[in-house]
Amino acid sequence: MTDPETLSVTIVDGYVDEPAHFGVPPYISTYPRYAAGALVDAGVPRGQITYHTIDRLRDEPDYWRDVDEADLLIYLGGMTVPGKYVGGTPAEPDEVRKLAWTANGTSLMGGPVKFGVGDENAGATETERQDLDFDFVAKGDVEAAVFDLVESGLEGFNNRMRDIDEVSRWAQEGAFIVEQHPNHPEHLIAELETSRGCAYRCSFCTEPLYGNPSFRPPPTVVGEVDALSDFGVKHFRIGRQADILAYGGDGEAPNPDALRQLYSGIREVAPDLETLHLDNMNPITIVNWPEQSREGIRIIAEHNTPGDTAAFGLESADPVVQEENNLNVSAEECFEAVKIVNEEAGWRPGEDPADAPTFGDDAPRRLPKLLPGINLLHGLKGEREETYERNRAFLQRVYDEGYMLRRINIRQVMAFDGTDMSDTGAEIANEHKQLFKRYKKRVREEIDNPMLERVAPPGTVLPDIHLEYHQDGKTFGRQLGTYPLLVGIPGERQLGRTIDVAVVDHGYRSVTGVPYPLDLNAASMNELTAIPGIGDSTAGDIVVNRPYESIADADLGTEFDLSRFVTTRPLELAD
Ligand code: SF4
Repeated sequence: MTDPETLSVTIVDGYVDEPAHFGVPPYISTYPRYAAGALVDAGVPRGQITYHTIDRLRDEPDYWRDVDEADLLIYLGGMTVPGKYVGGTPAEPDEVRKLAWTANGTSLMGGPVKFGVGDENAGATETERQDLDFDFVAKGDVEAAVFDLVESGLEGFNNRMRDIDEVSRWAQEGAFIVEQHPNHPEHLIAELETSRGCAYRCSFCTEPLYGNPSFRPPPTVVGEVDALSDFGVKHFRIGRQADILAYGGDGEAPNPDALRQLYSGIREVAPDLETLHLDNMNPITIVNWPEQSREGIRIIAEHNTPGDTAAFGLESADPVVQEENNLNVSAEECFEAVKIVNEEAGWRPGEDPADAPTFGDDAPRRLPKLLPGINLLHGLKGEREETYERNRAFLQRVYDEGYMLRRINIRQVMAFDGTDMSDTGAEIANEHKQLFKRYKKRVREEIDNPMLERVAPPGTVLPDIHLEYHQDGKTFGRQLGTYPLLVGIPGERQLGRTIDVAVVDHGYRSVTGVPYPLDLNAASMNELTAIPGIGDSTAGDIVVNRPYESIADADLGTEFDLSRFVTTRPLELAD
């Protein structure tokens, strides 16, 4: 019998990306936090729990000692949607095997990895279930397995799901683990769970494998935010649910009172939070219950921070694909939902919400409070050439009718055992690879670019951009939040710092920004020439003729309205 008091435990985070749960840095998913809470609840002292991300093990190989020497190794990971990530690289299957081989103690693997593992973390792949040489694989909830395994003296556990009381306790007791994340405290965003499971059954999706939705009551989520903020977390995303609007209801219809308790409760216990975003809103909820949904969306926009995105899983605008894959929303319905979110939440700080959606010259230069995003999935059953045209036409219509989308996410399907797509596999996605490439390029050029200009017009201020990497003489960074815009800033700036930026130009999915406010008396040549209309020679003249008392003193030679972000003395900083 192993005494929990003396047990040393190492948790390794290989990262997760599920349809309704994200945990690649700068995000920390719920898994390591809940697992740590379950350990504490089972009697393991906090000081004996070590947490490493897979990237930290790669960067600092000495930490493998913690994997080797722990009495219990817990590996958490699994990608059930494909993606590429800036903030971290998910563990590859070979690395996960190496963890199991290195561990001298008992090894337990859990998280969405239980749904299957591909040869690599990519789209258009098929996956299979593997134990990757671990002693135990949690086929139910890994946090419940952790608790039961420790209780049993590391003998074993029954696969089971945890209940609401357990998750409420573990979520709070495990909050301390965030301090061991390499991104803590400034560059870390905690993914919050409000529910699991889904009332719908889309063919490709792993979420229904959790069953029908079960909600965590507002006080338990609020209590967790309180605990996390005591450990220094200032950024939160309510991302672990299939549909935020359904929160606290009967599983499908919205319950605005529950949403209000949740959002206002979070604001009360974490008044200094810097990010409060969400993920996943089901457009069918908005279409079926428009009035309650409007109210719910208003509540969210009142409490969230700007730049928030409600990702809509349209997946396909083609009725044939919709039918064959059990997709729950049609293109027409999704359009209606796009319109409603724009009308209720497409306003910007500093203006009247009744004016939403706003863009163009008169709109304040901040990101809108909440906009829809659209997810499109290719390689589904029934897909044909026409599917691509229908999807493109849907997006074009949103633009032409004067609405905004914050993000268009186009992916190819991954086929998991237990979902209806497992028979079809990646066959259609592979057949349509060329078509997919051409279409994606067209969407990027014809829709993403003008849409981005509408959402974040020149002069839009993006506070707190975290500088993440250098490329081609520029520094790239993002805000913390849900699907943040990628910002390229001229020059190689010190990484790991945070600056405010004003948008000056637009790519397909990223923007060019200059430091805000841009001081004409100090701006570099690179920064000046990033502004449309200012070429090398004008920038040279600006530099040579310094200093300036006011912007009017400088001959800028551009029609571009610089007054919103250029100064010759310090402007008020963005909030
Ligand atoms: S609505 Fe469909 S895609 Fe969304 S979580 Fe439910 S089953 Fe998955």
